[in-house]
Amino acid sequence: MTSRSDQLFARALQLIPGGVNSPVRAFRSVGGAPFFVKSAHGATLTTADGRELIDFVCTWGPAIHGHNHPRIKAAIVAALENGTSFGTPNPYEVEMAELIVTFFPSIQKVRMCNSGTEATMSAIRLARGFTKRDKIIKFAGCYHGHSDSLLIKAGSGALTHGNPDSAGVPASFARETIVLPYNDPAALDAAFAANPDQIAGVIIEAYCGNVGFIMPDPGYLRHLREITARHGTVLIFDEVMTGFRLAKGGVQELESSTPDLTTLGKIIGGGLPVGAFGGRADIMDHLAPLGPVYQAGTLSGNPLAMAAGIASLRMLEELDPYARLDRLGAQLRDAVQAAARAKGLPVQVPQRGSMFSIFFNDAPVRDYATALRSDAKVFTRFFHGCLDRGVYLAPSAFEAGFISTAHEGAAITRAAEVFTEVIREL
Ligand SMILES: *Cc1c(COP(=O)(O)O)cnc(C)c1O
Repeated sequence: MTSRSDQLFARALQLIPGGVNSPVRAFRSVGGAPFFVKSAHGATLTTADGRELIDFVCTWGPAIHGHNHPRIKAAIVAALENGTSFGTPNPYEVEMAELIVTFFPSIQKVRMCNSGTEATMSAIRLARGFTKRDKIIKFAGCYHGHSDSLLIKAGSGALTHGNPDSAGVPASFARETIVLPYNDPAALDAAFAANPDQIAGVIIEAYCGNVGFIMPDPGYLRHLREITARHGTVLIFDEVMTGFRLAKGGVQELESSTPDLTTLGKIIGGGLPVGAFGGRADIMDHLAPLGPVYQAGTLSGNPLAMAAGIASLRMLEELDPYARLDRLGAQLRDAVQAAARAKGLPVQVPQRGSMFSIFFNDAPVRDYATALRSDAKVFTRFFHGCLDRGVYLAPSAFEAGFISTAHEGAAITRAAEVFTEVIREL
């Protein structure tokens, strides 16, 4: 008898390319068919077949308070009473902007949009419009959404599908994007030397989360800030994943660095579609209607998305859960490391706060090239072993794991047991 998920997937495959609306959901890199989810509460997903799974994907980051949190739900319901979209300014947008600038001191002005992809695409256009230059720098393994200029050596999703450089991106566009290794200050110096007065912007995931979780070497972000400032290049921190996840003020708070522009998404939508970009007022004022850089959105600042996001941010403000989340992350890391040590299996578990990765790799992972040396076959067996026991990790060896406050207690304890058991049997 085929499962309900298998039946749904068979129908989806007829009509939706690959059966999914975002490629990594298709389980291609780990094999097998994806499960369908009918509901999600707290740390738990319930599949269409009624299985309960402890979820470390957290809808790829947004669900920091766990799924379907009563307070976020109530905020959406209250907003819904007044209508779903107005096409005119609404009060929530102002409150959201005020919250964002409070937590991110580098952001003086901010514009809302509908996804992280829109945020990064618009920030790049703004950097180009502001500097009147064309070239941008990104780093191998960093993912900034799927716009043309940024979909080059873009980490997990693209990696998993074997086409790190997407078809359909004209070579002439790709030439305007310089891709450098992450954590390599000499490569940055060389790129600036080779392209004098041509680099509009540098975009970076200050902590990488899209080729697994990778942290910068000490001093690297400072070097990046200095060299961009010296060359009049706009420094963009893509904090779509890390903003409000690792600290209320994101990686820039943890690392005391000040980018010119920041992109946000995921958590600031409380589980609804959202993105935002903001930063120095003199740069942001180049946006239409004040300036010549065009950017717009029918549903931007949508009242339901704003209400959900505001509720999520207010809870972070009140609860300040970051120390708690870090303890949960450390508990998982310690369990994996102890089990791997007992087994003699090489593993790296970079972890900070509620983000972690499990790389089956004998050397520390510090960039795209070293991440790729991880043993994806061992990861696949680990992934399925965990899933069979009710623990859901992202279906790729090159993704970060996410923890929510709802994982505290039973879910973390159970996951640590499962990781230990599965590693023992690998
Ligand atoms: C998820 C992500 C994006 C893209 O956001 P979408 O909402 O999926 O378009 C961009 N940058 C980073 C760092 C991300 O993690």
